[in-house]
Amino acid sequence: MSDLSTVLERWEPVIGLEVHAQLSTKTKMFCGCRNVYGAPPNSHTCPTCLGLPGALPVANEQAVNYALKLGLAVGSEITTFSRFARKNYFYPDLTKGYQISQYDEPLCSGGAVTIRWEGASREIPLTRIHLEEDAGKSIHGENGDGTKVDFNRCGVPLVEIVSEPEIRSPGEAKSYLTRLKQILEYLEICDCNMEEGNLRCDANISIRPKGETEFGVKTEMKNMNSFRGVERGLMSEIVRQAEVLDGGGEVRQVTLLWNEAEQKAEVMRSKEEAHDYRYFPDPDLVPLSVSEDALEQARSSLVELPDEREKRFITQYGLKEDDAVILTSETSLAVYFEATVTEGAEASDAAKWILGEALSMIKEEEGSMDSFPVAPDRFAGLLRSVTDGIVSVATGKSVLRKMASNDLTAAEIIEEEGLAQLSDESALSDAVAKVLEDNPDELERYRSGKKALFGFFMGAVMKATGGKSDPKVTRQLLTDALEGK
Ligand code: ADP
Ligand code: ZN
Ligand code: MG
Repeated sequence: MSDLSTVLERWEPVIGLEVHAQLSTKTKMFCGCRNVYGAPPNSHTCPTCLGLPGALPVANEQAVNYALKLGLAVGSEITTFSRFARKNYFYPDLTKGYQISQYDEPLCSGGAVTIRWEGASREIPLTRIHLEEDAGKSIHGENGDGTKVDFNRCGVPLVEIVSEPEIRSPGEAKSYLTRLKQILEYLEICDCNMEEGNLRCDANISIRPKGETEFGVKTEMKNMNSFRGVERGLMSEIVRQAEVLDGGGEVRQVTLLWNEAEQKAEVMRSKEEAHDYRYFPDPDLVPLSVSEDALEQARSSLVELPDEREKRFITQYGLKEDDAVILTSETSLAVYFEATVTEGAEASDAAKWILGEALSMIKEEEGSMDSFPVAPDRFAGLLRSVTDGIVSVATGKSVLRKMASNDLTAAEIIEEEGLAQLSDESALSDAVAKVLEDNPDELERYRSGKKALFGFFMGAVMKATGGKSDPKVTRQLLTDALEGK
């Protein structure tokens, strides 16, 4: 098999992604059933989401507002008068025989997602964002046990976010997905849990000879259930298409299923065309009209977006780009960082300690920043103890761990356990003098030029003071004493 890097010397990938995000509304898209994950099968269904004859759908206002928030956040044009359409197809998890979606009149058109790629900012343009409903879920029994269908997911609101074919590599696709997920999380409109299936991505991919402007024939890949899976699926498909074309063949327009276990794609079906779905406006639903009020409300509920926050963290706090990227990756992290600074910590210290010690403690507990037991005010207090030289960095780390299991402040723990460094010069001078007195041979060798013995003396003073002497003060006192000053 050819490898990706040689393929990329001659071929340019063209990628467009279709992301489905379940909106975390209280109820479903067109009925009053609750929108919850993990409930007993078929416990949240009604005539409307089951598509029983005579039941009438009504669009969920919260879902429309969530989609508006997203559209505004990515700079889409909002269509104030859009329409729902029926997308007709048969599948066991779709009792109605059609899915309510939007077709030629989507709620949002255009816009872009700003990603960070290879150290630079880049805009991936969007085609559209539309509202639709999810289908149910088939549960395939083991050992030929048949297939059961759970309709709880039927009618759960989705936004479908379609990108223009402007993504040029699997890595860039992953970066786009990461950013999109972040935006959905910042806006608090989707739980973004790929394992629970509330964020899903179909990838469209074609390749063309480098320098060519026309697009090649694309395939569509489904069933990747992680961002890494999307990246790997795309890599393998790029290589496969290049082998087909290099061998004089033609890429067929098919839908592929990614098999994560085997790391390869399998053909699911030949591609269906839009006309196969017999789209037509849903006669049961009035057109979706967005009032000026609703728009204004969505506008005023917008928060600072990840890329804006990233830039601000760099300029306002002087953070390194990589640190700003991680600190803004989740709202909770960003909020914690800023609160720590507000509580009096130096931004650079706060960043270092959050990205270092705090995150590793969180990882050990498999928790999240939301459950981190040390609140920003106590955290800032600890950082001050370290910058003020009251405790060393190493002691500071152990104090932080103690703080995680009680409500004491750093100062209280330091006091209670007598952890403060000795920075009192007279006490330290005594210790230094004693060390010199106890080690006359080393002192003599030091004074006749063996300066490397400095470390030996530092260690001896540290030992004599139980590791609590302030290193900076000690170093100064020791230098003076050794030089005979
Ligand atoms: P379809 O009619 O197959 O649904 P669309 O034009 O609706 O195709 O596009 C679906 C997705 O495929 C979009 O994300 C779009 O950017 C992407 N896409 C379109 N043409 C190509 C291509 N030649 N190569 C890769 N992706 C493409
Ligand atoms: Zn229902
Ligand atoms: Mg399409």
